[in-house]
Amino acid sequence: MPVKLVVAMMMHETNTFSPLPTPIESFARLGALEGAVAIAEARGTNTPLGGFVDLAREVGAEFVVPMAANAHPSGLVTDAAFDQMTGAIVEAVAKGCDAVMLALHGAMVTQTFDDGEGELLRRIRAVAPDVPIAVALDFHTQMTEAMARGATVITGYRTYPHIDMAETSRRAGRTLLRALAGEVAPVIVWDSRPIMSSTLVHTPSREPMKSLMAMAAEAEETGAVLNASVFGGFPQSDIPHLSLSAVVVCDRRAADGELLLARILDRAWEHRAGFLFHPEPLAEQVARAKTLDGGPIVLADHGDNTASGGTQDVMSVIEEAMRQGLEDACAGPICDPGAVARMIAAGVGAEIDLDLGGKVDMPAMGLAAKPLRVSGRVRRITDGEFKVTGPMATGATIRMGRTAVLDTGKIEIVVSEHRSEPFDLGVFTHCGIDPTRKRYVLIKSRQHFRAGFEPIARHIVMCDGDGCTASDLSLFDYKNIRRPLYPFDPDMTLGRNDAAGQAGSRDAPEARADRP
Ligand SMILES: [Zn+2]
Repeated sequence: MPVKLVVAMMMHETNTFSPLPTPIESFARLGALEGAVAIAEARGTNTPLGGFVDLAREVGAEFVVPMAANAHPSGLVTDAAFDQMTGAIVEAVAKGCDAVMLALHGAMVTQTFDDGEGELLRRIRAVAPDVPIAVALDFHTQMTEAMARGATVITGYRTYPHIDMAETSRRAGRTLLRALAGEVAPVIVWDSRPIMSSTLVHTPSREPMKSLMAMAAEAEETGAVLNASVFGGFPQSDIPHLSLSAVVVCDRRAADGELLLARILDRAWEHRAGFLFHPEPLAEQVARAKTLDGGPIVLADHGDNTASGGTQDVMSVIEEAMRQGLEDACAGPICDPGAVARMIAAGVGAEIDLDLGGKVDMPAMGLAAKPLRVSGRVRRITDGEFKVTGPMATGATIRMGRTAVLDTGKIEIVVSEHRSEPFDLGVFTHCGIDPTRKRYVLIKSRQHFRAGFEPIARHIVMCDGDGCTASDLSLFDYKNIRRPLYPFDPDMTLGRNDAAGQAGSRDAPEARADRP
């Protein structure tokens, strides 16, 4: 008898400061929501769902995909969307299966729940208390006790940009299959430290995260534990359980994992100053880019990046680049459906004046929408679809919506109907722009751009643009985070109240009366 699995994806990184709502339509935009079409889209791709689907096929499992939901980061997930997604998964599990494989993000906040993933697992456990569940998570997980209690196996990405999505699912899935075969008996232990690390400086490819991730990877690869993962957390979220955490899946003996957790997290605490970001004036950053030789010089605006919940329409960096006279440049994609419609109506070759971008107020950041007046010629119109060829989400289909290129004479600006993080050159090449031949490439991204653009960049200049994904934590008005928390309480010492269980227990399905 083949193993019978329920495989599902429910992924969203919620930026509670983002003004963008997250209804079910946001999840459907990145692909089919269920069934054979979802499976066909996921097969062979370097995505979390792709990893589980390919593994299930390889081992000859019988499986269904009742939900394949993945949305760009944005504001709170609506209750209706959350109920639809969890309802489909729970219904499939209730019909009976040997095990469940879930591709989750680990940072979902809904209108009602601080910990969407913990709540999903609680709902599954209500109908299937003992079914083994493998969970693959993003590196930016806000770990909670409810997730650790609800899952049988947990793994997380080890890279940022996330180029090991499929492998992360395979790691979790392989352990789960071994458990089903009776070879191992997984026990999850986890812990955290009260550190809010800046996403701009916590990539596992550099210190101080590098050594932490190496400890986890080594323990897993040598077989000392079944799986070990470190999570950086996601700072643009005003929730109590935000922290830097680690999760170890042990074979029967929790003590092995607890030792490893202490080693990893004590080192993180010791090197906490390395997780801080130090802001700089935007004008100085653009001026520095002008002094650099050759190209392409990639200017990465991390204040407004889609993959952290940005509106992708803040014009501050392009405005500064124009003010300082940068030319031979491409920029984008900027999300502005109205501007796209106007360019399409004008047609290729037409001269046009536009109030570009800056359509969305950001009340939580105290920022008002501010379009930029630009003039230029419409160079190209596309359907905004392309397949990823770079190392992140390889093979996945990107759908930017209808897309148009405005050429100001100095900058070619890609404008699209939907938001899309530029982690692959396709955002430019699919509309006839070769970024390798430009002196300046202006994109909105914090880290994921490195997957596609670092190999072509002669220089990279990080730009502190405006927006709800700013790296300067002093720009955010946190009301619900745990205190003390580093770096808000720089002189704090670790006390008993900082234990993981304490923070995690507060996630439990509590009503968010403080949220609109
Ligand atoms: Zn992430």
